[in-house]
Amino acid sequence: MSYRSIYIEDLNESYLGKEVVVAGWIQNYRKLGAIEFLDLRDRTGIIQLSAKDATKIPDARNEYVVSCRGILQKKEVPNPKLPKGDYEIEILEMNILSKADPTPFPVKENTEALEETRLKYRYLDLRRQKMVNYLKVRAKIVQITHQYFDSLKFLEVETPILNLATPEGARDYLVPSRLHHGSFYALPQSPQLFKQLLMVGGIDRYYQIAKCFRDEDLRSDRQPEFTQIDVEMSFLNQEEILTIAEGLFKQYFDKILGIDLKLPLRRISYWDALDTYGSDKPDTRFSLHLENLSHFKNCFFEPFHEKTYFRGIFLPKTIGSVSRKKIDELSLEAKKFHLDTLYSLKIENGQIEGSFAKFLQDELKTELLAMVQEDGQLFFGASLERRDIDFAFGAIRLLLAKEFALIKPNTYDLLWVVDFPMFTKDENGNITAEHHPFTRPKDEDYPYLKSDPERVLAYAYDIILNGYEAGGGTLRIYDPKMQEEIFELLGLSKEEAQARFGWFLEAFRYGAPPHGGFALGLDRLAMVFGGTDNIRDVIAFPKNLQAIDPMSLAPGKASEEALSTLGIKIVK
Ligand code: ASP
Repeated sequence: MSYRSIYIEDLNESYLGKEVVVAGWIQNYRKLGAIEFLDLRDRTGIIQLSAKDATKIPDARNEYVVSCRGILQKKEVPNPKLPKGDYEIEILEMNILSKADPTPFPVKENTEALEETRLKYRYLDLRRQKMVNYLKVRAKIVQITHQYFDSLKFLEVETPILNLATPEGARDYLVPSRLHHGSFYALPQSPQLFKQLLMVGGIDRYYQIAKCFRDEDLRSDRQPEFTQIDVEMSFLNQEEILTIAEGLFKQYFDKILGIDLKLPLRRISYWDALDTYGSDKPDTRFSLHLENLSHFKNCFFEPFHEKTYFRGIFLPKTIGSVSRKKIDELSLEAKKFHLDTLYSLKIENGQIEGSFAKFLQDELKTELLAMVQEDGQLFFGASLERRDIDFAFGAIRLLLAKEFALIKPNTYDLLWVVDFPMFTKDENGNITAEHHPFTRPKDEDYPYLKSDPERVLAYAYDIILNGYEAGGGTLRIYDPKMQEEIFELLGLSKEEAQARFGWFLEAFRYGAPPHGGFALGLDRLAMVFGGTDNIRDVIAFPKNLQAIDPMSLAPGKASEEALSTLGIKIVK
């Protein structure tokens, strides 16, 4: 007998009364008098098996691996909870292929097991249909990606894993070299430099499903190793590149969600996104815009600085109202963005109430009432830094959306954020690259590079899906002189730039085409399309939030011998 003739999901009317062989794991067993009922699970579903004479079949327990030959029948009482609940298989022959100890947690769809336990026994967790479905969505994305880029003459090229550092701004994972003690490879934070060199090499249109590694603090949407759909192309302008990326999303939406995505996607500028939604990855599935209240600055006794930015958010009464305790919570969130005070006002029946109402001049009250025509609560604050105040209210906006369940499930919103600034300032006030230092400034802003670097915008774009940065990219610098100027602005001397990137920059002296590209986060796409907000769900064997694999407990200690071969001494 062969182990299997058919997957459970493929059983249908046409097999009724016929012999089939199914194989998988026993999910459940129960005896009713002389009749034995078993639920058999394979990767595709669950089917009930029954034996009229239980003595004729071997005793199978949960998670035993069996192969079963039998006749497909209609069930007298269908089980509407299972896709194949209309059918059962009358057992002719059943073989136990492998026995199982009692498992650390019962394998069932609605498991109560803690995530850490599920990760420790991931191979058991993967037996659940829900987990299989996440992996299927992920595989589908990969399949669509290959088809799409192939149809557009993109060439899939692999790039090295053992490299020098890539300047994506995160910490590197280092690999010590055995042959060159004291030297280290860095695992790629992205294939950025190699994909640009492929353009210099004339490859023209490249893509790769690439593993990337960044040693950062982990979050629910971040893993130390993750997968990017990495793309680069020559001789195309920004609009043409965005069109190529959008076309791919159209395929994803169509083939995974069955949604006809309307193109072109909305494009909003970085500063509009910040001032309107308080985020450069705005979740636009609900409204609650930020209000620009900069005229507030004249209404306080204490004069505000000329350059103070005021922002507010208005919560209409029809959505809900926020308790004192909740306001404290919002204030705490705002503090994370250096916003000391969150003011709040109540607007009711044409009256403005709240401890700060007395500071408002009448003129401003009238203006406010005209602005917010409904009753509700207005939260506002002020800051000298535009980003701080915007991000603070962006965070408040998200908390309010959560509190009042403003996001409808199974809704999608996709848009571009474009025109990012070239530079930001770090905590020490130094200029750093907002993306990576190979990003090209916009032609019209190039003249201000030296005189007013902060106003310079870049050919840089992010694609935002339901408030997640699904991907992003830039046009690249291909003129060595411009690259030199950017390095200089970033405080990298000629010598330093040469020492770190000389090998890369030299290529641009031998004829580099105009080029640009983007990278999409495969894991995040799988999360959103799979309907989870936990990135670990869509990775077969992820790390936990401490960057540990709970199954193997990696990272592990290296033996003295291995360390000495590498010329490494551990200092406690
Ligand atoms: N290398 C960039 C990143 O990983 C994406 C790009 O610019 O293509 O974020």
